[in-house]
Amino acid sequence: MRTSGGTRLRSLSDAETLRALVGNLREGIYVSNVKGDVLDANPAFLEMIGVTSLEELRHYTAPDLFVDPQRRAVELELLARDGAVREFEFQIRRPDGEVRTVLDACTAVRDPDSDETLFHGILVDITERERSAGELSNTLSLLTATLESTADGILVVDNEGKIATFNRRFVEMWHIPEDIIASRDDNRAIAFVLDQLKDPEGFLRKVRELYATPDAESFDELEFKDGRIFERYSQAQRIGGRSVGRVWSFRDVTQRKTAEWQLVHDAFHDALTSLPNRALFSDLLARSIGRARRREDYAFAVLFLDMDRFKVVNDSLGHMIGDQLLIAVARRLEQCVRPGDTVARLGGDEFTILLDDIEDVSDATRVADRTQRELGLPFTLKGQEVFTSASIGIALSESGYERPEDLLRDADLAMYRAKALGKARYEVFDLAMHARAVAQLQLETDLRRAVEREEFRLHYQPMVSLGSGRVTGFEALVRWHHPQRGLVMPDDFISVAEETGLIVPIGRRVLREACHQLRHWQTHYPMDPPLTVSVNLSAKQFLQADLLEQIADAVGTSGISASSLRLEITESVIIDNAESAIALLERLRALGVRLDLDDFGTGYSSLSYLHRFDMDALKIDRSFVRNIGDRGENSEIVRTIVTLARNLLMDVVAEGVETAEQLSVLRTLDCEQVQGFLFWNPLTPEAATALVATQARP
Ligand code: C2E
Ligand code: MG
Ligand code: MG
Repeated sequence: MRTSGGTRLRSLSDAETLRALVGNLREGIYVSNVKGDVLDANPAFLEMIGVTSLEELRHYTAPDLFVDPQRRAVELELLARDGAVREFEFQIRRPDGEVRTVLDACTAVRDPDSDETLFHGILVDITERERSAGELSNTLSLLTATLESTADGILVVDNEGKIATFNRRFVEMWHIPEDIIASRDDNRAIAFVLDQLKDPEGFLRKVRELYATPDAESFDELEFKDGRIFERYSQAQRIGGRSVGRVWSFRDVTQRKTAEWQLVHDAFHDALTSLPNRALFSDLLARSIGRARRREDYAFAVLFLDMDRFKVVNDSLGHMIGDQLLIAVARRLEQCVRPGDTVARLGGDEFTILLDDIEDVSDATRVADRTQRELGLPFTLKGQEVFTSASIGIALSESGYERPEDLLRDADLAMYRAKALGKARYEVFDLAMHARAVAQLQLETDLRRAVEREEFRLHYQPMVSLGSGRVTGFEALVRWHHPQRGLVMPDDFISVAEETGLIVPIGRRVLREACHQLRHWQTHYPMDPPLTVSVNLSAKQFLQADLLEQIADAVGTSGISASSLRLEITESVIIDNAESAIALLERLRALGVRLDLDDFGTGYSSLSYLHRFDMDALKIDRSFVRNIGDRGENSEIVRTIVTLARNLLMDVVAEGVETAEQLSVLRTLDCEQVQGFLFWNPLTPEAATALVATQARP
C-alpha cells in the first residue's frame, strides 16, 4: 500500500480498510487545502480540536481555532512552497476554551484530480507531555539550587562507581582537584581523600561495606588529621524501589564538636590551671580504689597539698600574681610526677596528686619531698621573685578505702597536721589523726547539745588596781560543764565553737549573763568607781552583723552603764579586717563601752597599726609576764609595751601574774592593773560575789 501522492487505491475495500484503520488511530489525521480548510479528518482529529464533525468545524475560522493564527499561516505557506515534511508545534483554542498544544507532522501533496495542493497532516496532542516536561525542569532546577545551597557536601555515585552528581561544597570540603572530579571516577576520589583521614582503613571498610549492601543506610563520624570532624550519612539512591547508586552527604561539625568537647573539658577541669578538677579527680580516685580492691599487688597514694600563706601572697601582691602563682605551681607539680599520675586542683590553693601503682609509702614520701623542694625554689612572676611552700598530707590505699571522699578527707587531715606542726612539711595519715578527728567531731556534737541545754557557766577573775590594791572589775571566763567530762576549759572548745559558728549563741549568752551579774554587784555593793566586767570577743563574734544591737541589748536590759562593760578583742581580729574593724570600733565607742586589746604581743603586734585603733587598754599577754625577771629581756618588752601604751594614752593590764617577783617588777614598770593567780583564780559567781561583798565594805 502506498500512501504518497500519485497512487490510487486499488479497490474500495482497500479504501475502507484504510479509513477504518485511520479512524482507530489516536493521532489526528487530516487533509486540508492550502487555505487551511479541513477537507477530511479522522475522529481523533475532531476530538483534539473539540468538535464533533467536519460540518461543525466549518463554522470556525483560523482566528477562532488557533492561539497564534499568524504563525500557523506562515508555516502552511512554507510548507506549500518547499513540499517537504514539516513538523511544527502550535496551540489550538477549542470551542470549550481549553488550549491544547499539538505537534503537526504535515506534508504538501499534489491532488492529481484537481491539480490542487493539499496538506496531509498527523496531529499529536502533546499538551500533557509539555506540561510534565515543564514540571520536570522545574523540579530539576529546584533540586540543583537546593544541592548547591546546602551547607553539606553531597556526592552521588552510581552502581558502576561513577560519580553521578556532586555539589561544589563537596569538592571544597574534601579539597578534591578538578581533574579527579572531571574523571567522574569515585575510586580516584576515594584514593585522594584517604590521606586526609585519621583512620583511612575504617573509612574504606565502611565504603566497601555499603557498596556491598546497596540498601543499607549509615551514619558515622570522620576525623581528619587536621582536626576537622565530618558527619557522614549515606543512603541508597532508588528509582522505583530499585537502588541505582548511593548518596553520600558530609557535614562539617568541627565547630559543634569542639564546643561540645570544650564543655565536657570545662566540666572536668579547673579553668585557671587547666588541671583536672575535683570531679575528675574523684572519678579517677574511684577507679584506683576499685583496682586496689580487685588486685592485691596494687597500691596508690593521695597527696593533699595546701599552699602555706597563700593568702598573704594574694593580699600583698594582688590576685593577678596570686593566680599566676597557682598556675606556676600547677606546672611544677606536673614536673614532679610520672606520666600515669594525676595532678588536680580542688580549688583555692589546694592541690591533690594521685600516685598510681606505688610500691610502698616511701614512693609517696619521695614525691612529697621532691614536690616540697621544687615549690621551695623561687617563682618569678611579672618580674618579682615570689617564695612559697606547701604543707602536704598523704593517705595510702592500704587502709581499704571504699569512697574517694574518705581518702581525700584523711589526706586533708594529714595536711592539717602538717600545717599544725609547722608548715612546709608532709605528714602521712595515721589512725591517731583519725582518732583526733573523731574526737573533734564528737566535740562538735557535744557542743551543739551544750548550747541547747545551756551547759555553760561563767567564772570571774578579779582585776586589781596596783595603786589602790582594790578589785576594779572582773574578766568573765566561760566554762563548760560537760555531763561526762566535767569542767571543760575554753582553750579546749573555743576554737571548735569558732569553726562551727557555735561561738555566736555562746557569746551572746556570756555577754548577757556577765552584764546581769555586774548589775547585781553594782546594785548590792556599790563602789566608786563602779565595778567593771570584761567580756572576750572572738573573731566570728566581732564580725557578726548584729554585734552592736547585741551589746546595746545586753547593756540595756541589764541596766548597767555602758562604760562598765569592757570588751576584749585580740589584735588579729582587727588587723585581719582592718577597715571594717575601724568603723565598728568607732560605733562601739559611740555606745560608750570600753575596748581592750587582749593578749597583746602574741599576734602581729603591728605597733604601726596601734594608733589607728582607738583602744582603752592593752592587756600584756601572760607569756611575757611569766618570764619577767628570769632574764632581763622580758622585763624590757613589758617596759616597752607600757611606755607605748602611755604614749598612746592607754591603760595597761598585766595578765597572768603568778609570783611576787613578777608583781614587784610590774610595780617598778608602772603597770597600773594586774590580773593573775597571785591574786585570784577565776572564781565561781558565788565566790566572786563574796569577794565583792568584802571589797564594798567601807
Ligand atoms: P584570755 O582572755 O587571755 O583569758 C585569760 C586566761 O588566762 C584565762 O584562761 C585565765 O584563767 C588564765 N589566767 C588568768 N590568770 C592566770 C595566771 O596567773 N596564770 C595562768 N597560767 N593563767 C592565768 P581561760 O579561762 O582558760 O581562758 C582562756 C581563753 O579563752 C581566754 O584567754 C579567752 O581568750 C578565751 N575565752 C574565755 N572565755 C571566753 C568567752 O566567753 N568568749 C570568748 N570568745 N573567749 C573566751
Ligand atoms: Mg581576755
Ligand atoms: Mg589574755
